[in-house]
This record gives sequence, structure tokens and C-alpha cells, in this order.
Amino acid sequence: MTATIIVGGGIAGLALAHRLVRLDPDHDVKVVEASPRPGGVVRTQRAEGFVTEVGPETIVDDGSGLSGLIGDLGLTGNTIEPRPDVKRRFIVRHGHLVEVPTLPGAFLRSPLLPLSAKARLALEPLCRRGRDPEETLASFVTRRFGREVLEQLVDPFASGIFAGLPERMEMASCFPEVWKAEQDYGSVLRGMRRARKGRGRPRIIGFRGGNEDLVNALRRVLGDRLWLGRSVTGLHRAGAQWGVTVGGEVPIELTADRIVLGIPSYRAAELVRPHDAELARELDSIVFVSLASVFLAVPEPRVPDDVRGFGFLVPRREAKNSVLGVLYSSDLFEGRARAGYKLFRAMLGGARNPSALEATDDQLLIEVRETLHDLAGVEAEPMFCRVHRYERTLPQFEPGHQARMGRVRERLAGLPGLCLTGQSYEGSGVSTCIRNARALAEELGGAT
Ligand SMILES: Cc1cc2nc3c(=O)[nH]c(=O)nc-3n(C[C@H](O)[C@H](O)[C@H](O)COP(=O)(O)OP(=O)(O)OC[C@H]3O[C@@H](n4cnc5c(N)ncnc54)[C@H](O)[C@@H]3O)c2cc1C
Repeated sequence: MTATIIVGGGIAGLALAHRLVRLDPDHDVKVVEASPRPGGVVRTQRAEGFVTEVGPETIVDDGSGLSGLIGDLGLTGNTIEPRPDVKRRFIVRHGHLVEVPTLPGAFLRSPLLPLSAKARLALEPLCRRGRDPEETLASFVTRRFGREVLEQLVDPFASGIFAGLPERMEMASCFPEVWKAEQDYGSVLRGMRRARKGRGRPRIIGFRGGNEDLVNALRRVLGDRLWLGRSVTGLHRAGAQWGVTVGGEVPIELTADRIVLGIPSYRAAELVRPHDAELARELDSIVFVSLASVFLAVPEPRVPDDVRGFGFLVPRREAKNSVLGVLYSSDLFEGRARAGYKLFRAMLGGARNPSALEATDDQLLIEVRETLHDLAGVEAEPMFCRVHRYERTLPQFEPGHQARMGRVRERLAGLPGLCLTGQSYEGSGVSTCIRNARALAEELGGAT
């Protein structure tokens, strides 16, 4: 019987464990998680009639691994989609919220981009393919679509998804499908159209009771394979196997055929350093940024009628403070706010504002209230506030990331039985972590 220990019970570690057991019910799988609760950053809180997501709020179901996991867990009936009338997203332009057009006609009429930038888009299919595999998002977009599209559209989305800066993000790592579209078809617009034909449109989902529903379902299935509140403090060879030291009042030594590190790369670096200092150096060099999120609820009648939709993003050139964007949480999914209240969630910090977390909670709250007041006309005193801080939480796939991952794979080949999973390597986001974890399970399951 094969034995696998997964270090870290975030969504990646849990999804991997679940898939391994599903592929082979006799597989001896243990997940060792430092926190008393599983799920890592996926966490839902309930208080005063509000349901708030501490971590991810919207999950993209692209039909790859997440749908399979949801089906396996019998959670299909528990997923919810944003209300149909909230598909509107906004971006700040010249100090005002402008709706992001989704149809070509609306795009041509939209004030989001000047005419010159729209005309520039027509030239995209004529641009040459990029040759630099380490090209940044900023360079890619400027080359193919022009500077205005970068600053007005792509910069805020880079903040919204990665909390990153386009000039420090490797295109091929952050948006592999778009990168591939250019490489395969010579045009992003043409390539994306073709790629979409073969598969359904990705959909945004949440879970009826909050995203922790997914974690709780995994927890139920994994049962006592899940060791909570136990931190792995050491990794060692044990003959042909690997061993881990599980900390606690009385440390425990566990051995297994395989160890999978499903923890942030900078934590994995600490464990692998005694075995391969070069691998540890590579893992340590993956940069993470910190974030804060502020939930705030105000009486619905005090919110202007047109403040309805998904939320808004703030391009860097429009930013007055460290707010990256605001989600209209209670518009997105039903049941998130107490009746009669509207719940907003602002994200602050990221690569754009590295010192944002030095501010006190009150200062962060003031920034959010100012932003909501100036951009959305929301003036009311909030009756509910929650501030969450996340230190070194989102990996930034900087130029050279793909090459680094190549070197990481080479070094791991010299440490058979040791694997990595989680958001630090092949992409962040709940869906991506699940897809990659399940793919790793297939690889490992097939190797038993
Ligand atoms: C504020 C915020 C908002 C986000 N919003 C979205 C969103 O809307 N949509 C989306 O798809 N994604 C979103 N993400 C990203 C997404 O949540 C992450 O990419 C994903 O959850 C990462 O999962 P993971 O398992 O790789 O890591 P983690 O969740 O970080 O899990 C790692 C686990 O390892 C444990 N651990 C660490 N060291 C040890 C050790 N030595 N021993 C044992 N255990 C250890 C930790 O306690 C943790 O539980 C968001 C992230 C944040 C922070």
C-alpha cells in the first residue's frame, strides 16, 4: 500500500488528498495542517446576519477540475451563480465609474477608452508574435493593444486578480491561455475566439453557505486522514522513504513513500533546504504580496440606485489611496447581507502598495469609506465592518518564473518521492489549485 503525506491542508492539499483516495481507496493518505481548521485562505465567517468570505469570494469554474470535484462531493446543488442583473463591472476613468462593455457595439460607444485606443485594437491581428518567453504583461499588452489599454483596462484587472503590477508579471505564467493564443494563432483576438469554440464559457460560482462549504465537504470525506493543528517542522530521509517531523507538545515522526508540500513556496523552502539548498533558493525567490480586505455594510436606502453590479476596479493612475477595487458582495450572491443592508468588500495593498498593511484598521476603513464616497456616492455610516490582513499571501509570477519552474522540476527529479503543489507554482486561484492538484494525483496515482 502506498503512503503519501501532504503537508498543508489548503484547498490544494485537500483536493489532492481527495483525488488520491478516490483513485485508490487503499492509498494511505494523511494531510498535516498547521491550523486548527482546514482550507487555508478559503474561509467563511458568519456574524450579525452577514456572511463574509475571509479569502476567495468568486470562483471561476472553467469546467476543468473544480466541476469534477464538486460532482464527486455531491455539491452540485450547493453552488450558486451571481444574480443575473449583477454582471456589470466598472472601472474608474477620470474619477468616475464607467461600465466595462461586454458587447462589441457597446464597446465602440463606451467612454472607457478614447477613440484612438479603440482604433488601435483593430491592428492587433497584424502585430508580430512575441519571441521573449519572459515578456511581461505590460510589454505584451502595449505591443499588441497599445498603452491606453494597458493603463485603463489591464492594469486594474492585474490588480483585481493577482494584486500585481503588469510590468512585474510574466505573461506566459499569469495568462497562459492568452500567451498561447498569440503563439498559436499570431493574434490574441483570433486565438481566443477559436479556443472558446471548443468549450463552454467559464462561469463564476460561489457556494450557498459560503465557499467554506467546499472545505467542509472535503473535511467530511477525508475524516481522520486530516491532522489539524499540527505543523510540519522537519523533513528527512528515512531509507527509501521520506519522513516528516510533526510538531506539537510531543513531536511525532511520520514516514511515507511520498511527501507533497502543499504550503507556500517560502515555507517549502525551509523544509527542503537541508536536502537541496539550490532548490530552497529557487523556492525562496518566488515573491509574494500582502493584502487587506475590508467588509463594510450600510443601509440599502443610503446607497445610490446605480451602485449595483459586480463591483469596480481602480487603475493605478486613478488611485487616491491603497484601495485596488471594491466588490458589491451582497449583489453578487444572495444571502450575504442582513435584509435591508448592502455589503461591500474592498481589497487594499498588493504589489502597488507594499506598505498598505502598516496602516491601522481605522486608517484602512477611512480609505475605503473615502473611495466609496468619492466614486459611488455612498455616504452612510457603516453598521458592520470587518478588516482582514493577509501577509505574503499571493504569489507573483515575475519574469523568469517559467524558467525557474523548469529548474525546480529538474532539482525535484533528484529528490524522488518529494512533490510540490499549491498556488505558488503553476497558477493561483481556487480552480487552478484544484485542477493542478488533481492532475498531480493522477500522476502519482498512476505511479503506484
Ligand atoms: C484575500 C484573498 C482573496 C482571494 N480571492 C480569490 C478569488 O476570489 N477567487 C479565487 O479563485 N482565488 C482567490 N484567492 C486565491 C486563492 O484563495 C488561493 O490561490 C488558494 O486558496 C491557495 O490555496 P493553497 O492550498 O495553495 O494555499 P493556502 O490556502 O495558503 O494553504 C496552505 C496551507 O498550508 C498550511 N501550512 C503552512 N505551513 C505549514 C506547515 N509547516 N505544516 C503544516 N501546514 C502548513 C497553512 O496553514 C495553510 O492552511 C484569494 C486569495 C486571498 C488571500
